[in-house]
Amino acid sequence: MAKETGYIKSYYAASANPAPPRGPLRGERICDVCVIGGGYSGLSTALHLAERGHKVIVLEAVKVGFGASGRNGGQIINGYSRDYDTIKGRYGADAANALLSMSFEGGDIIRERVSKYAINCDLKPGSFFAAFNVRQMRDLERRKEVWERAGHQDLHMYSKERMPEVVDTSLYCGGLLDRRGGHIHPLNLALGEAGAIERLGGEIFENTRVVRVERGLKPVAVTENGRVAAKFLIVCGNAYLHEAVPELSSRIMSVSSQIVTTEVLSEGLAHKMMPSGFCLEDCNYLLDYYRMTADHRLLFGGGVVYSGTDPSDIIGRLYPHILKTFPYLKDRKIDFAWSGNFALTLTRMPHIGRLTDTVYFIQGDSGHGVTTCHLLGRLVAEAISQQSSRFDVFAAMRNYPFPGGRMFRVPLTALGALYYALKEQLGI
Ligand SMILES: Cc1cc2nc3c(=O)[nH]c(=O)nc-3n(C[C@H](O)[C@H](O)[C@H](O)COP(=O)(O)OP(=O)(O)OC[C@H]3O[C@@H](n4cnc5c(N)ncnc54)[C@H](O)[C@@H]3O)c2cc1C
Repeated sequence: MAKETGYIKSYYAASANPAPPRGPLRGERICDVCVIGGGYSGLSTALHLAERGHKVIVLEAVKVGFGASGRNGGQIINGYSRDYDTIKGRYGADAANALLSMSFEGGDIIRERVSKYAINCDLKPGSFFAAFNVRQMRDLERRKEVWERAGHQDLHMYSKERMPEVVDTSLYCGGLLDRRGGHIHPLNLALGEAGAIERLGGEIFENTRVVRVERGLKPVAVTENGRVAAKFLIVCGNAYLHEAVPELSSRIMSVSSQIVTTEVLSEGLAHKMMPSGFCLEDCNYLLDYYRMTADHRLLFGGGVVYSGTDPSDIIGRLYPHILKTFPYLKDRKIDFAWSGNFALTLTRMPHIGRLTDTVYFIQGDSGHGVTTCHLLGRLVAEAISQQSSRFDVFAAMRNYPFPGGRMFRVPLTALGALYYALKEQLGI
């Protein structure tokens, strides 16, 4: 594998806020908590701990936000990748209620941080779930009922007649607006959080891949040219961790999703296409998600590749979906096209826990991680500060390896997804 040293080409990298140079780690360091990975999971954990007065060091293999956190759709989506009823059926009512009660916290953390640290990341309120059919509308009504019971009172069903307020397409029969959702420039959020960690005395080293973790009372993160000994070590490499901690990598599957952005559109056209300025994701198993950027580009994502490889023709994959949604964009240029990996678990629920008393991990957000990673970072910080009851709710969820071993797990998962996508298309 070629060694990456900088951001991939994307709209986000091209419009990133300036950041200070952060050199690689050389030599030995000691700190309270060493975090491996500078995505939302790692940054959220490090910032929560730095706010509590811990001396933190973040080790990032490439650049802050190099992974999914600096490449995603920027959608602040509440909830998890599985709905309440599935979670209740699998883990029981107590666990499902406890998980639900925490599920709106991630978005609140983001809004608090943007305000507290004056992070310039184009934060906008409102995320919209769009339904294609009556069954999906019923699922959204159920989601609204369940979330309201958990205290979320800013949810609004839209009928087909109201859809032009949200989006200029005839594809959908209605949907659900979540005013506690929203969207952001994801890389600029990550960079803002990194800056906040440093202002609180934390250190971040880039181009510093951890190659091995030595466990023990004082665990050590071993890098290519140095070592960090800490009281606690938190592994947050997610889909980009590869073999540094093999027993974690075997519990997730790297899955890539793709995004394109159009050329800059006029303010008038952008407003016509999405008048309310919300972000939108549809309710299909293999879903499309899109929004307008601050400079009036359509940012459109969709498609998944099980195995986490980059498809050769991203524009060719996504352009038909764009034209189906907005046929009048036919002659518009696509300025940026990129791919990124998230980590899928077999249960589609996040996987967090302890490898030893002093080595923790967060991974497996299963594609809905902008809010979840921010919540999980807080829970790990709480657990390290001797308040582990909320962390334990997540850590108690059983996690399973993918069936099929290394050879067959990708085709088996792809086959499963195809089955659900087909069922959906046939309406059964
Ligand atoms: C294209 C795409 C679109 C998405 N859209 C959305 C969306 O709109 N809304 C939503 O909620 N979620 C979305 N997601 C998911 C979301 O982006 C992720 O869940 C979240 O960013 C994961 O954060 P993370 O910190 O766990 O992992 P990452 O952001 O991937 O960060 C892991 C970091 O660890 C570093 N690393 C790995 N191994 C090592 C090592 N050995 N040593 C040092 N550093 C290491 C990597 O370089 C990387 O920077 C999307 C994901 C993708 C790929």
